[in-house]
Amino acid sequence: MASEPSVPAVAGPADPEPASLVTLSVPDLAAMERLVASGADLTERVRPQADGSIQVDAVVTQSQLAELQPLGATMAPETPAPAQTRKGAAAKDQIVIERAVWFESRDGYFLSVEASSSAGEAATLNVTWKGKHGSTGQVAMVPYVDAGAYLGHQFNTPAPTDREPQWVTVTSAGGGKAEARVKEWPGGERPDHNGRGYQKDFITQYMPPAQLNERVKSLHQRFPKLTDIITLPNRTNGYRRHAQALIGTPPAAAVVVTSNAYGSEGGNDLSVELVDPGAADRPLQASLNGKLITVSLATDGSGAVTSTAAQVAAAINANTGLGVKATTYRTDAGAGVMAPAPATQLDDFLNAPADVSRKPAEVLALRIGTRRDGSRTGVLAYSQEHAREWVTPLVTIEAAERLLRNYDRDKATKRLLERTEIFIVPVVNPDGANYSFYDFNSQRKNMTNHCPAEQSDPALRNQWGVDVNRNYAVGSLHDGYFGASANCQSGTFAGPAEHSEPESRNVIWLAQKFRNIKFAMNVHSYGGYFMWPPGAYKQDGRVSLPRPTAKEEGYFLSSAQTIETAIAAERGTVTWPQQTGPVTDVLYSAAGNSADELWYDFGIYGWDFEVGADLWNATTQRWEGVGFQPPFSEGHQEAMEFAAGLISLIGVAADYRDR
Ligand SMILES: [Zn+2]
Repeated sequence: MASEPSVPAVAGPADPEPASLVTLSVPDLAAMERLVASGADLTERVRPQADGSIQVDAVVTQSQLAELQPLGATMAPETPAPAQTRKGAAAKDQIVIERAVWFESRDGYFLSVEASSSAGEAATLNVTWKGKHGSTGQVAMVPYVDAGAYLGHQFNTPAPTDREPQWVTVTSAGGGKAEARVKEWPGGERPDHNGRGYQKDFITQYMPPAQLNERVKSLHQRFPKLTDIITLPNRTNGYRRHAQALIGTPPAAAVVVTSNAYGSEGGNDLSVELVDPGAADRPLQASLNGKLITVSLATDGSGAVTSTAAQVAAAINANTGLGVKATTYRTDAGAGVMAPAPATQLDDFLNAPADVSRKPAEVLALRIGTRRDGSRTGVLAYSQEHAREWVTPLVTIEAAERLLRNYDRDKATKRLLERTEIFIVPVVNPDGANYSFYDFNSQRKNMTNHCPAEQSDPALRNQWGVDVNRNYAVGSLHDGYFGASANCQSGTFAGPAEHSEPESRNVIWLAQKFRNIKFAMNVHSYGGYFMWPPGAYKQDGRVSLPRPTAKEEGYFLSSAQTIETAIAAERGTVTWPQQTGPVTDVLYSAAGNSADELWYDFGIYGWDFEVGADLWNATTQRWEGVGFQPPFSEGHQEAMEFAAGLISLIGVAADYRDR
């Protein structure tokens, strides 16, 4: 995986601190919760370990790592922690097996069991499985406790078995015992596509937003009778930033100068110099000559320079004609005397080639179907809310192209286009996506900086932005739900208000405008999950958004199994049973996410894919994470399998009848 053994250190005061994707270990779920509450930039890959600890992949800088350590987080060891012997409960406990399933992936047979004990998390549970020809094995279970609630015991990850397991016996150190037959997972209907002549594989590389939009437009040109392009009403703020320079020596004798204009609109042309007037008793003055801002420093009776950072900032701000604003460094009062400094050009620090637009971006939806009039069941598929998840737009684009190119040659595809109307948004967050492509590949959020001046010096630029998938209005941070941050630098910053960002407003606009949309797939990476509401709870008492009814939950699950069967049919990637379920049960609380708003406000069956399931390493006998930007050969395979899953979802929609 992309995980690095260490986190590199910072270079200079204007440079962002480098961040790395690492695997962290925390001792228990309470510590995991503290990590979520801290607003740390956690990925969706969360793995309980045999000793009760939890490993989670996260994007962190060295100083963020230092801040997380008091919360109990450490760098995960390379080798798995040994299983701890747990004390058994005193009285004989009752055991209920909730799920016992086997699956065959491309790497062989695996077993997954979920059970609960009346003795709760203190129980020590072990599983013995039996298969054909006397095959057998044993696996220890681990308790799963979230926000103080015992949710049962499970395997830390699916356990390899040399054959197909048929029966499991769960025994407890307290004397409890239960048996169950092992069912095949996911066990859904096989997809009816992939017949001879079925065309697929239209993806040749990772694509930045401009290329994705071009692909959407060219598909529309090629299939005008089957498609429309919808330009979503809210343009993004744009791949652009104000130009900045850090002058002097932080913290006490430094000023941050920021242009009023975006860098691309003149800000980058400005320079700032601090000069010694070379004479005694001169006043502090700031003036503009062409594109050069000259600050002439004050001197005392002996001709020595006396202007402090705070005075220099005030002098710059007093002259509104300069086109810039200045502040002292972070929270420093700026009492240090500034030294003369040669002209420094302001910079927006954006590295994309000039042909990448700096203007507010259009977000496009491709509307697909033979009757695009609202009379058919609508399916919304939207991806790359999180900028660094490069595989996700490939999933939706590949699915769109399969539908269009197979319409004429594949009966099952024709039926999908006749019975449904599909809305594909490949890139919800194009500004962040550009930033991820060209500047900082771990960028998760959009590019809009809501931080105050003291948190806006250029070294912090990789921390700005809003987490689009925490900016929605249902179960939000603003409503008191858990799993988003009010800190503008956090990886899960919810934004200043619900729907403050154009990216989230665009998604909701589609749901409002096209009331025939009944299904939605929010495509994320990575970790191999398939989830649905509720996606958020209030931490006190773990009070989640209302659970769907048993009937609805059954429908979520049976549809998920159908879709997971289609995913597995591509290359044998099986989504684990313990990673299939409501977000709050299988991952963590994510306040203000889009799927919750679609379900609770619009009655849309809103799912989340986390594409990029772990890969089994036969040598180490461990599952390994794939990362946000795996080598393209792997990203391509993930796109193929989850495109098949998305098309299977459209099949579920085609069979849907309003009841
Ligand atoms: Zn994501």
